[in-house]
Amino acid sequence: MSRRGDLDVIVVGAGASGGALALALARDGFSVAIVEAREPVPWRETDDVDLRVVALAPDARDLLADLDVWTSIESARASPYRRMRVWDALAPGELAFDAAERGESALGWIVENKLIQHTLWQALHRPASNGGTLRMCCPATIADISEDDDAVAAALDDGTRLRARVLVAAEGAESSVRQKLRIGFDGRDYGQRAVVAHVASERAHENTAWQRFMPGGPVAFLPLADGRSSIVWSLPDEEAARMLALDDAAFCAELGAASDFRLGTIKATTKRAAFPLRLRLRLAERYVAGRCALMGDAAHVVHPLAGQGMNLGLRDVACLRRVLRDARERGSDLGAAHVLRRYERERRSENTLAARGLDAIERIYGSSSTPLAALRGAALAVAGRFSPLRHVLADLAAGRF
Ligand SMILES: Cc1cc2nc3c(=O)[nH]c(=O)nc-3n(C[C@H](O)[C@H](O)[C@H](O)COP(=O)(O)OP(=O)(O)OC[C@H]3O[C@@H](n4cnc5c(N)ncnc54)[C@H](O)[C@@H]3O)c2cc1C
Repeated sequence: MSRRGDLDVIVVGAGASGGALALALARDGFSVAIVEAREPVPWRETDDVDLRVVALAPDARDLLADLDVWTSIESARASPYRRMRVWDALAPGELAFDAAERGESALGWIVENKLIQHTLWQALHRPASNGGTLRMCCPATIADISEDDDAVAAALDDGTRLRARVLVAAEGAESSVRQKLRIGFDGRDYGQRAVVAHVASERAHENTAWQRFMPGGPVAFLPLADGRSSIVWSLPDEEAARMLALDDAAFCAELGAASDFRLGTIKATTKRAAFPLRLRLRLAERYVAGRCALMGDAAHVVHPLAGQGMNLGLRDVACLRRVLRDARERGSDLGAAHVLRRYERERRSENTLAARGLDAIERIYGSSSTPLAALRGAALAVAGRFSPLRHVLADLAAGRF
């Protein structure tokens, strides 16, 4: 039975996906609780640029702008990239995208994950408008979930009990809710690690994102506002370990060679870190179980080569927000199977296409086979010269699937 005091939605996890969803729904007038295991590390202007950065696509920026957090993020520290150059170590041909060609100011923005999460977290503490409410439960995790006909009940580890029409798991790749619901999370292990660092270069980055496909994995240089570049270099595990162990001069020499010295010689400005890509292709077999739904990395994890993970998660947010608003307008139960299935149908197909597409690119460009190298060289050359195809690829690069 539906009870007084029941919430509309419980969101588990306050990363970019969960934080944006909880904020959006509270602003749309829903009653929401957010359950987060640990308070996010605060972002401070005086700290150096954090090593975890993402390339945000224009539609992800639009969502953050709609939630009134983009202005704070942009004025704090965000770096637009206006061009993108992609080329291959083993074959000729090059792709170049330019925002100006498309009449846009930027293809995307390089932003620290920590800044996005911190800004959303602060906004979650401001009173909701439109009659919405937001209850923060932090630090807390979900100990148990049960359902009856009208609601899903969540028992938190601190003894709090919450009931709502819908529970959304946005707790990242290791989602405990997904495991409790026994939803499979299958995929492929890349046996790679992404080595990240911020570097200075002899030549200016020209607000361009540079990416070169190498046999072991792609290396990307993402332009930072202070003139440095943030590098993401996907490497086989042993190679990554070797790169981490090198001294700065030897590492920069390897990085310069890997980037064809397009930016000239490279100078280290930070320590290096590595993120395992063990889980870089994982797809939940379902996004919905009863009144529970998965989103963001809890539902799909993709290879970082095109920088799409967070962008896909924010597209999940936009979709579920629209689906729940429509359900409320029609007077439907927010957690009804037909409502949540609509979200699942829309998002699962797009996310699967993106994940499989990125996986295929990683396989083709990560191979050193001679016939494949010839084929991909021809593909880059054709795509580079054929303007409509280049526009399609620019859309893909900017996350518009
Ligand atoms: C090297 C690298 C580069 C990348 N580059 C890009 C890029 O350029 N562009 C892009 O779009 N994406 C990129 N990504 C992917 C992107 O970082 C992720 O897709 C995104 O951060 C996922 O956000 P999320 O909110 O779904 O999950 P998370 O960021 O993992 O957030 C999960 C939240 O849930 C909380 N939590 C965890 N467990 C529990 C629990 N049991 N109970 C309660 N709370 C819990 C966590 O504390 C956290 O706050 C990159 C990833 C890597 C590894």
